[in-house]
Amino acid sequence: MERAPVRTIVSRGLRRRCGRCGAKRIFRTYFQLHERCPRCGYKFEREEGFFTGVYLVNYAVTAVLLVVEIFAFLLWASANEGDVSLAPWLIGGALIAILCPLLVYPIASRRGPPSTSPPAPSTPSKKPKPLKTTTARARPERSEA
Ligand SMILES: [Zn+2]
Repeated sequence: MERAPVRTIVSRGLRRRCGRCGAKRIFRTYFQLHERCPRCGYKFEREEGFFTGVYLVNYAVTAVLLVVEIFAFLLWASANEGDVSLAPWLIGGALIAILCPLLVYPIASRRGPPSTSPPAPSTPSKKPKPLKTTTARARPERSEA
């Protein structure tokens, strides 16, 4: 399977679909992915700590939104010569800090596959389509002594 263009992978991720094939229903729960894509068999968690980047993206998006809110407050306060209420801005910041990670996590956890991803194992009930990953198969296994 050829690697999709980056914008296609991002678009699929934003719609909570498999970055590789665009399949729906790749989440077991709102936050938990299936181990593999139900259509193409792509293994989502490649190794321990694979999703650390997801937390980084989550944190970065939340932090950027909070900084934007702070600057919006400062602009609003200076435009009104300091005669503004702080409470709505604090509540808005709290909502950003709580809701943003909840909303961004499923989107941030979607990734496009590397171009040399290994083929999916077949399952007894549903066998995924065979993949054209000749480069992955041609590489010899590394043995650790
Ligand atoms: Zn897939």
